[in-house]
Amino acid sequence: VYTPLFKEHTVPLATEIVAKLNANENPYGPSPKAVEALKAAAVGGNRYGWGQLSVLMDKISEKEGVPKEYLMMGPGSSDLLEKFALVLFMNGGTVLSADPSYMSLMNVARSVGAEWKGVPLKEDWSHDLDAMEAAISSDTKLVYICNPNNPTGTITGYKELYDFCSRVSEKVPVFIDEAYLDFVEGENGKSMVSLLNEGKNVIVARTFSKIHGMAGLRVGYVAALPETLKSIQKITRGGMGITNTSIYAAIASMDDTAFQAKSKNLNKQAREYTASTLKTMGFSPVPSYTSFMIFPQETMEGKAFLTKMSEQGIGVRSFEIYDKTWCRVSMGTMEEMQMFTSALGKVME
Ligand code: PLP
Repeated sequence: VYTPLFKEHTVPLATEIVAKLNANENPYGPSPKAVEALKAAAVGGNRYGWGQLSVLMDKISEKEGVPKEYLMMGPGSSDLLEKFALVLFMNGGTVLSADPSYMSLMNVARSVGAEWKGVPLKEDWSHDLDAMEAAISSDTKLVYICNPNNPTGTITGYKELYDFCSRVSEKVPVFIDEAYLDFVEGENGKSMVSLLNEGKNVIVARTFSKIHGMAGLRVGYVAALPETLKSIQKITRGGMGITNTSIYAAIASMDDTAFQAKSKNLNKQAREYTASTLKTMGFSPVPSYTSFMIFPQETMEGKAFLTKMSEQGIGVRSFEIYDKTWCRVSMGTMEEMQMFTSALGKVME
């Protein structure tokens, strides 16, 4: 049995949290246009949302450049990560991923009897794709890649990952979780979804929780080959869990490109401020491509650190990764980031 190289420290959050920087939520969302659409749709709550879901899927199909039959919708991408884990691993098998990574799919797979095999990240915090490929065995049923990765906030290069997915998906399906990809600039911000047009067996997960600021409204989807989706949908269909109101909000949010650009820009500013302030304070943050950041915090044991931060009104996360204690902080507004750095200074005194 594989022994993980990371673990999380947790304490209950204080009730008086003023800066909630623990769940990688978008502090600006949802888009005002999404809120308007949601309010207007509330009176239609007596009807099932299938008709409007179809409209949303048409929009996503156009954006992703794949036919609608390649899409499966869910109330957040968690629902789909979990559904894939349940169906693919109900008869056991091994799921391969980086260690550390976002554990939702692996945890559910393990709970139904699968094995998880982790592969440490490289020194530059990107996926060790060669080691991952070498770790595939006859028992491997899925490779899970979170890019950019959570909890590290780091990226694996587009070309390298594209070649890996292209090659490896001939042997075993590759699940790419792109929850934070909208925050990435340049070529590395390109999705793996185009591999589907080459007939590759990849599964790409996206969410409205991050750039769209709709974490509480619950909309996500995966793009995959129709035959892959059929094998999942034989057991559990998609789309039923999303509320009609959230579907309207998602459609309006997709149209509000100005809001998405604002989220991305303000996130970048918060990230620059946080990284430079942490460096001034003597910390070494890992360069982040996402809406959160990690840095080693080794003065204090993880739980004690969380408790002290929580007493200052700040919610963050604490991980043990490769024998160091790390803090993960989500990017809030600039004001929240200032509260965070000032609380951190006090806690470290
Ligand atoms: N994938 C990653 C990497 C995440 O960090 C999260 C949430 O934080 C999710 C998926 C799940 O998001 P949701 O269920 O809100 O779409």
